Amino acid sequence: MTNSAPRAEVVVDLDAIAANTAVLRERVGRPLMAVVKADGYGHGLVPAARAVLAGGADALGVAVLEEALALRAAGVTAPLLAWLHGPGTDYAAALAADVELSVNAEWALEEVVAAARATGRPARLHLFVDTGLSREGATPADWPGVVAAAARAQADGDLAVVGLWSHMAYADAPTHPTIAAQVSVFEEAVALARRAGLTEARRHLANSAATVALPDTWYDMVRPGIALYGLDPLGGVPAEVGVSYGHTYFPESETTLALVPVGYADGVPRAGGNRAPVLAGGAQRTIAGRVCMDQFVLDVGDAVVRPGDEVVLWGPGDDGEPTAQQWADALDTIHYELVTRVGGRFTRRYVGSAGAV
Ligand SMILES: *Cc1c(COP(=O)(O)O)cnc(C)c1O
Repeated sequence: MTNSAPRAEVVVDLDAIAANTAVLRERVGRPLMAVVKADGYGHGLVPAARAVLAGGADALGVAVLEEALALRAAGVTAPLLAWLHGPGTDYAAALAADVELSVNAEWALEEVVAAARATGRPARLHLFVDTGLSREGATPADWPGVVAAAARAQADGDLAVVGLWSHMAYADAPTHPTIAAQVSVFEEAVALARRAGLTEARRHLANSAATVALPDTWYDMVRPGIALYGLDPLGGVPAEVGVSYGHTYFPESETTLALVPVGYADGVPRAGGNRAPVLAGGAQRTIAGRVCMDQFVLDVGDAVVRPGDEVVLWGPGDDGEPTAQQWADALDTIHYELVTRVGGRFTRRYVGSAGAV
C-alpha cells in the first residue's frame, strides 16, 4: 500500500445521485423534496444536497435544524424543510436562515409564533398529521386544535401554512392494508385544514417507496430519500430473520487469512461477523469470526492476495461486489441503517461532477 492510499473510503457517485433524482422527478411530474437528512444518508450532507439540486430537486428536507443550518452555512439556498424539533428549539435562527418548519402540536406552534413576532419574520410552516405511523405527527384528536391555531396565526400574519403532510408506515409493502387507511385519514385531515382556510398549503405524503410504487400518494409533492442514493426502497423488508449470533469461525483446512482494517468503530456492523459478504481476492467471502472495533478477518482460501489489495464491502453490485441489500438481508436490518452508519475512519471520495462547486 502506498502512503497516499486511503485506509478506508466511501466512494460516492454524485452524477448517479443527480440522475436518480432526475428520473424520479420526471416520473412524478410534480415538485420533489429530496431528503438529505442523516448526513445525506451517509453520503455527505452538502455534496448530496448539491447533487440532488443539480438533478432537479425542487426542495430539500432534513430532520433537525442543525442540518438545515449547515446547508445554509454552505451556501445552499434552495427551499428547505426541517421537521424534528424539541421544546426550546431556536426557531429564530431557523427563520433568519429561511428554513421552513414543521409542527405537530400547539405548544410548538406557540414557540414558532413567538419567534416570528420577535424577529419580524413570518414562518413558512408545514403541519404534520399522524395518519397511522404513530411517530411524529399530531394525532387525529389533536389535529383540529393545531389547524385552528395555525389558521389564526396565519390570519395574524405570523406565519403561512405552506404544507400539510404525513409519513407512511408501510409504503415498502405496496399492498399493505394500512396504506389505504393512512391515505383516507390524510385526506380527511387535509379537508379539515382546507375548511379552516389553509387553502394554499401543498399536500405531501410519499417517501421513496410510495414515490416508486404508489402514485395515489403523490399529491402536490413527493419526498423521497433512500431512492435518491440508488437503493431500492421496495427491497427494504427482510424476508426472514438471521440465524445464529456470535459464532466463532474455524477454518476447515489450511488457508489464507486477510486482515481488513475497518471495524465497528467505523460503522461496520458487529453483527456482520460470520454473516456479511465482502468482495476480496476476486470472490465474495463471508466475514470470518467477529467484527472487532478496528478490523475484521477474511478467509480467502487459496486466492492470492497482497497487503493493500482492495476489499469492497458493498456497492452497486456490477463488479461482483455485494450490495447493501445483501448486507441488510444477512444482518436482518435495512440498507438505510447500513449506509447511514458508515463513518469513523472512512474517507469519502466523490466521483462525477453533479452539483460540484
Ligand atoms: C426519512 C424520511 C423521508 C424519506 O424516506 P425514504 O424512505 O428514505 O424515502 C420522508 N419523510 C420523512 C418524514 C422522513 O423522516
